[in-house]
Amino acid sequence: MNNAPKQHGTTPPIPQPIRSDGAGGVDLGPRDVIRDLENPDMLVPPVTDAGLLPNLKFSFSDTSMTLNHGGWSREITVREMPIATTLAGVNMSLKPGGVRELHWHQQAEWSYMLLGSARITSVDQDGRNFIADVGPGDLWYFPPGIPHSIQGLEEGCEFLLVFDDGNFSDLNTLSISDWFAHTPKEVLSANFGVPQSAFQSIPSGQVYIYQDEVPGSIKSQEIDSPYGTVPQSFKYQLLAQKPIKTPGGSVRIVDSSNFPISKTIAAALVEVKPGAMRELHWHPNNDEWQYYLTGQGRMTVFAGNGTARTFDYRAGDVGYIPFALGHYIQNTGNQTLWFLEMFKSDRFVDMSLNQWMALTPRELVQSNLHVGPELLDALRKEKWSVVSYPGFFFQRK
Ligand code: MN
Ligand code: MN
Repeated sequence: MNNAPKQHGTTPPIPQPIRSDGAGGVDLGPRDVIRDLENPDMLVPPVTDAGLLPNLKFSFSDTSMTLNHGGWSREITVREMPIATTLAGVNMSLKPGGVRELHWHQQAEWSYMLLGSARITSVDQDGRNFIADVGPGDLWYFPPGIPHSIQGLEEGCEFLLVFDDGNFSDLNTLSISDWFAHTPKEVLSANFGVPQSAFQSIPSGQVYIYQDEVPGSIKSQEIDSPYGTVPQSFKYQLLAQKPIKTPGGSVRIVDSSNFPISKTIAAALVEVKPGAMRELHWHPNNDEWQYYLTGQGRMTVFAGNGTARTFDYRAGDVGYIPFALGHYIQNTGNQTLWFLEMFKSDRFVDMSLNQWMALTPRELVQSNLHVGPELLDALRKEKWSVVSYPGFFFQRK
């Protein structure tokens, strides 16, 4: 039977839920072919997929945008992705001069600058202040409860914010404008020792993001504090870090060991070249929250008890892996896949399946898996986070 709709030269082939072994059948009903093309491993799961695993993918493209005159934001929280309880993410853009207003929140904020540049400011509990400009590949971390702001510079900017609580919403923070709007003017007057008339033009509610002029140089905005500046920088230049290189790609790790202020969020920036793979591994500390930066890949998550499920990801998607579940990520495209792995932890840690086997008595591995010297001799005592071997790579049929 071949009832597949006729295909034309310029349109992509219409994928069908049919596996190479013949399982499945043609889908002639209502369907979203564009979504099916984006999720080939959900339409036709590998034979090794089995059992019930929750959804571990959500795209920022499926979220609602909050539009303001100074920029936009959208977020992925437990509302969008119920499994993602440890971390929440916000994708935000600020126009030149656009300001994410002075605010604070109960959660720590970790961020990665994607494009353009911004100026960030903060003051800690001891009156020590902080001001810095951040560009592509730079990180920042604001501890829980510490107030801060972000402003787009000449070319504007786009960044990813990650918070150490899946329930966090950036639309529900403590804002300076909101507090002013909900404090009687006589109280404001008494607090600051100025007449009530000083507050006649304050915003009537939370501002969130607004448009301002592009600020002058950092020197021109510096405020001298009698208590000095924050002792641990809130900024870290991740791309300036020398990566750990392996055949297949590279990894840069950032956590409280090299970015001391970042006590609750650890991360890795991973590069997977075409044909390469982030090796089979797991994390013995916490869940993993992923953000895909460029390229495309697929990840299979193994959850024990005969269960595994495969998902496809591309730039702008978020992936999630519950604590300790086994997983790997293959580059399924022609360009380099870059993604971020993030953890609610003070340390980045991972367990390599290969390294574990290499450092375990050979007899055990041999009798447990019924494998011989071909595999045993190839095991590696040194960890290779991203692997690639000539002649051994993923090819979609
Ligand atoms: Mn914030
Ligand atoms: Mn991982």
